[in-house]
Amino acid sequence: MAMKQILFLDRDGVINEKRNDYVKSVNEFKFLPNIFDALKKINDLGISIIIITNQSIVNRKIISENQLKGIHDYMLKTIEKNSCKITKIYYCPHHPDEKCNCRKPNTGMIEQAVKDFKIDVSNALLIGDSNSDIHAADKMKMKSIKMKTDGNLNDLVEEIKGIFFK
Ligand SMILES: [Mg+2]
Ligand SMILES: [Zn+2]
Repeated sequence: MAMKQILFLDRDGVINEKRNDYVKSVNEFKFLPNIFDALKKINDLGISIIIITNQSIVNRKIISENQLKGIHDYMLKTIEKNSCKITKIYYCPHHPDEKCNCRKPNTGMIEQAVKDFKIDVSNALLIGDSNSDIHAADKMKMKSIKMKTDGNLNDLVEEIKGIFFK
């Protein structure tokens, strides 16, 4: 069953506060203000949300993959408690030197999601705060919006609505 509208969201700087020394624990994971309002409005439009995030923190050996999963469990549970839903998280654990195909601006994570959920990229949108997010979307010929780091996703809901339901 093909899903209809898909919103790909970056994590750091979009859902939670970006830290230049990486989010290393649940204590350092700070949801941005109004994020749940924004996610709820997007969910209520019938748009499914998939997170794609570069987490080289793993292969830089700053935290383990299990610790990253713990942070993501906390994130998803908190999102759920706030009556919002994330369909799936894809993360790239690799160090940039590994030249993997998943680290954005490469498209491995998006391609995997397209395969897993039979996504029609013409009916998808990506929002991120880095050029690498936008470049990944461009390579997939997917629409994108670059938002300010630690900006307010809630301010983009009308624009998102316009893109999907014009
Ligand atoms: Mg980011
Ligand atoms: Zn990777």
